[in-house]
Amino acid sequence: MDSLKPKIVIVGAGKVGSTFAFSLMISGLAREIVLIDKNESLAIGECMDLNHGLSFVYPTKIYAAGFESCKDADIVVITAGANQKPDQTRTDLVQTNVAIFKDIVPAISKYTNNAILLIVTNPVDILTYVTLKLSGLPSNRVIGSGTVLDTARLKYMISDYAKVDTRNIHAYIIGEHGDTELPVWSNATIGGMAVEKYSSEYAQHGNVKDDLNELFLKVKNSAYEIIKLKGATNYSIAMTLVKITKSIIRNENSILPVSTLITGYYGISDVCISIPSIVNINGVEQYLKIDLSDEEEKLFRHSADTLKKLIKTIKFD
Ligand code: NAD
Repeated sequence: MDSLKPKIVIVGAGKVGSTFAFSLMISGLAREIVLIDKNESLAIGECMDLNHGLSFVYPTKIYAAGFESCKDADIVVITAGANQKPDQTRTDLVQTNVAIFKDIVPAISKYTNNAILLIVTNPVDILTYVTLKLSGLPSNRVIGSGTVLDTARLKYMISDYAKVDTRNIHAYIIGEHGDTELPVWSNATIGGMAVEKYSSEYAQHGNVKDDLNELFLKVKNSAYEIIKLKGATNYSIAMTLVKITKSIIRNENSILPVSTLITGYYGISDVCISIPSIVNINGVEQYLKIDLSDEEEKLFRHSADTLKKLIKTIKFD
């Protein structure tokens, strides 16, 4: 990757793709941003609108194009596909979006085997796995946004509860980006103190265990709630994608719970799932074998099993 000229192609110029393009443009990270959408006029219109704001940010080349633009891309971010309707789960989207990926991934692979592919479309863990199989790329170069967003939501909610800066909180949501995800309370900390201990001493509102469990349920149900209220989530996922692309482009070695292929992790293999991983210019440099309590390990296995069952329903030929 030429880190002086990062080019990012975004497939899908809908709510998530266009908001990400906007956030990326403001961040100044990319020199070139391309939008691809099967609705060409949407992609062209979004690019026109973005370009008209260029006077206020770093010079960036922004345009709509076809898949040939992936040729010299550093990162291709896939946000194309159906999104959840109120009361739909992410896994309800699987067959529709797998069919779309069977078109998109070969179209990207025709032009590049060098880009890192970042998958956002839901169910993101399943589509990360599907992309890996369809592209034949090494697993470090196919990344799902996974539970990075859920983890950001958790940190926000802990910060609001404990009245402390989000950046002083270390906590992860792992597992499926969806209904079987889990918080790793056993190693979550605020300023070096266990979250539970910190909360008991400085932030207690009720029973701390109940309070923390309630915060997690709010995280898990956030997307459902936002979709009911405004039809889609776009800002926080856009910020999440800026963070992941920044870690890649700037070779930051950030630890992020992205969705990645695991092999022999707690004895589990052949599934893409979120666990804290070092993300840098190579994509997922390494995933980390974090300590889990017995209960957390049980929940993580259940989450992986749920994803594996869903993978079995997909035909790859
Ligand atoms: P949207 O409907 O606004 O946009 C989707 C876009 O994909 C549309 O513009 C559509 O024309 C385009 N598209 C469909 N098929 C295509 C194809 N074959 N080639 C090119 N473009 C194609 O939806 P959205 O709100 O932007 O959500 C997009 C996806 O992102 C959904 O699956 C949603 O569930 C997911 N999402 C994921 C997260 C996460 O944390 N991983 C967060 C929010 C949304």
